[in-house]
Amino acid sequence: MSQKVRIDGVRHDGASVFLGVDHCDNPCWTRNPERVMVWLCDGWRSRFNQRREQRPRSTPVKDDATGEITDWIEEPLGGLNILPPMSDSQARTSCLWMAGIPSAILASTNRIENTEWFAGLKRKKTTGGRVPGFKSRHRGLGFVCWRNASKTGNALFHQTGRKSGVVVITGMNPTRWVKPGEKAHWGIAIHVRVSQPIRPYTSVHVDWTHKSLAFTNMPLPLPRTGNDEVGLDRGCVHTLASSDGIFMDMPKPSKAELKRLKHLQRKMARQDRANEAKGGRTAKLASKRRQRTLSEFNTLQGRIVRRKNDWIEKTTTRLARENILVALEDLDVKAMTRRPKPRPDPDNPGQYLHNGAKAKAGLDRSILSNDWSRLRKRLQDKMDANGGNLVIVPAAYTSQTCHKCGHVAKENRDSQAAFKCVKCGYRANADVNAAENILSRALNKTGGGTA
Ligand SMILES: [Zn+2]
Repeated sequence: MSQKVRIDGVRHDGASVFLGVDHCDNPCWTRNPERVMVWLCDGWRSRFNQRREQRPRSTPVKDDATGEITDWIEEPLGGLNILPPMSDSQARTSCLWMAGIPSAILASTNRIENTEWFAGLKRKKTTGGRVPGFKSRHRGLGFVCWRNASKTGNALFHQTGRKSGVVVITGMNPTRWVKPGEKAHWGIAIHVRVSQPIRPYTSVHVDWTHKSLAFTNMPLPLPRTGNDEVGLDRGCVHTLASSDGIFMDMPKPSKAELKRLKHLQRKMARQDRANEAKGGRTAKLASKRRQRTLSEFNTLQGRIVRRKNDWIEKTTTRLARENILVALEDLDVKAMTRRPKPRPDPDNPGQYLHNGAKAKAGLDRSILSNDWSRLRKRLQDKMDANGGNLVIVPAAYTSQTCHKCGHVAKENRDSQAAFKCVKCGYRANADVNAAENILSRALNKTGGGTA
């Protein structure tokens, strides 16, 4: 979520800003706010590109005689002779003109570059785009600055009038490059036009080309309607079973949708083979027919994914509103214990048969675990925001333990769905029993308190 505002102007305060040294090693200072803004944009972009050049790219190895591609190797985007990755402070010392860029701006490149890189790779995979490259100044100037509320705070917003405000970015000249007779600290005040109150935010994105600024907001906390405590079990039949005996099911793709997806996937593989035979490795990207197949595939898959995500958002919102404590089991342990066991081969003693469904089950499991981590992350965000408590407990034996007497036995599971304790005879739905165990483990962990 973000709030976009228009930049009305910039003002410089404090010391002259050190921009680096010219070709005769004379230091350059400026009090021109526009100049400082461009310098901040250049610094952010350079640091971004320094990080980007470490990313790998596949490059063809060509046979010298025939010119044919014999192999593909991975090399960094910046070429084989690039320097090893630098820290922010190394970047400052190796590049004098970057020495004075505030660290809140240099540091933000780390996460932004990472996010954009993986988003770009995903785009490449789904729509056939290119490997993400470097940022060019011709594509627009801008930078991102973390909000830092400390004493020498950075990117802090102040309301100055009914419809106007100011974002202050502060910096300090390097000790060696303080202009004689001046102090080291400087500030740039970015005047913005606001139409609604600025909510709490984590960073500001300055788009200097289009003279706009966007605040990246933290989500608003969800008001809580209840103070319940609930344990959730990841079921086989139902996505979630709560300790209150409620089942929650994530919408699954219909049979027809799955059939269509499989059909499209095969069709595209066929088209890829045909195109590759005709025009080589990249020919498929030019094919109109393949493009059509791909876009139908993406539309359908997108619909399935959005339906799931919508369910995740609604379910986690409801859970965060109604409960002050939610207990979940740890993902990894259970995912591993659910792996189908290879059975011994009757014809070859000592050998094991691997289930034919294993590979597919592995795939399904990885998709499900993606949904599960998304659900867990969204629940964590929402519970954190409204002061609730999400407790993660170890998952071992939650499904074999009797909630009434605590007896642990494999035989307690009557069937996949039913639980019947062999010691005390307690009967329940197997998933609900597990959810109750998860809740009591969580309450033990927090000492019975909810905070
Ligand atoms: Zn029992």
